[in-house]
Amino acid sequence: MNPMPIVIDGATVVTLDRTRREFTGHVVAEGNRIVAVDAGPAPAYDGARVIDGRGCLLTPGFVNTHEHLYQWVTRGLAADAALFEWLTTLYPVWAGIDGESVHVAAQAALARLARTGCTTVADHHYVFPRGGKDLLEAEIRAASQVGLRFHPARGSMDLGQKDGGLPPDSVVEDRDEILAATEAAINRWHDPSPDSMLQLVVAPCSPFSVTGELMRDAAELARRTGVRMHTHLAETTDETDYCRDHFGCTPLEYAAQLGWTGSDVWFAHGIHFNDAEIARLGASGTGVAHCPSSNARLGAGIARVADLRAAGSPVGLGVDGAASNEAGSLIEEVRHALLFARARGGPDALGVRTALEMATLDGARILGRESDIGSLEVGKLADLALWRLDTLAHAGIPDPVAALVLSTPPPLELLLVNGQPVVEHDRVVTIDESALAAQVAQVQNHLLTKAG
Ligand code: ZN
Repeated sequence: MNPMPIVIDGATVVTLDRTRREFTGHVVAEGNRIVAVDAGPAPAYDGARVIDGRGCLLTPGFVNTHEHLYQWVTRGLAADAALFEWLTTLYPVWAGIDGESVHVAAQAALARLARTGCTTVADHHYVFPRGGKDLLEAEIRAASQVGLRFHPARGSMDLGQKDGGLPPDSVVEDRDEILAATEAAINRWHDPSPDSMLQLVVAPCSPFSVTGELMRDAAELARRTGVRMHTHLAETTDETDYCRDHFGCTPLEYAAQLGWTGSDVWFAHGIHFNDAEIARLGASGTGVAHCPSSNARLGAGIARVADLRAAGSPVGLGVDGAASNEAGSLIEEVRHALLFARARGGPDALGVRTALEMATLDGARILGRESDIGSLEVGKLADLALWRLDTLAHAGIPDPVAALVLSTPPPLELLLVNGQPVVEHDRVVTIDESALAAQVAQVQNHLLTKAG
């Protein structure tokens, strides 16, 4: 814990508190909590580290609600393919991952996320090759080294090609093994406390890679142990066709039959929902992780964000795995969410402040952490991002939120997670970025050689 208070003074502060206060002023972190948020100059704090926030915009730290960290070492493949073809190209490469490659990939992906304003990450790890080491442990270690708040989702696949699924049988697991490993992970790591840096999630992969029995049993396990539930749903029209052919219903109807709606559930993508389904999601409080860059990269379509929000469904942002979003930048998702929503629904479809809210408050709500993160308020955890807006790219734009959302991603002057600096002067201070880049290239090369 940081012994000295950190005072950020003179910044434009966008609190996203109940009354959405915005002002030029100060925020003070002491230990892992925020102790002051107010307009005007900061009062003196004994022994404080004072950071000059002039020329900067201070926002809550961003929440990434969908990610596959391991994919950082399998980027740039199947560059022009749609989802099912992209998956079948990548499954054999992913079959080669182990504890070491996942550890390197996770460190790199998390470091990039930190550089782009992200303080909390929900990761969905679903590839557990037979005989592989404890891959979840490798990711958790990486998150602790980089210093981000982490919600690892123990994913799974139990529907291989021989049973009509999409993944090769070499990367699917046995259902009982999956449930036992998931429960063991929850018992070992899940910390439900308000200060928590680590909360587990139960997360079978998708309708075309998981059996209905596993979906149902996983929901029962999650609710019995009090953790959240996450899966991919309604990402492509191919998936809709698959569900019609195999189950005689839409992806959401299928998920709902198996217990997968509610305020403890959020779906990745959620692109192909009809009006009745959107109303159903809103009424049940089911969330959606919107991943605009990945959806565009794979030509999957774009979620009906404005309709989902209007119906009452919380919509957070996600970068998705780096194999379908090589940038892995959360601030870019804010901009893409806004641009694609307007391209789809007209100029009123999404405002700059709403886009920022999706990256912060809505993401916190999806993870059940809205009492402790997602806004800058006294008593909340000190997770915050200080963006430099006095650069050539941003200076002169009168509204700092418009500068952050509409212009190129600004340098990140400071990122605090749990009161601790993770980024300073646009560099990650918890790991060596250059050494890691060299390791990433080595690991990716090794995986491609192994896959032939
Ligand atoms: Zn995904």
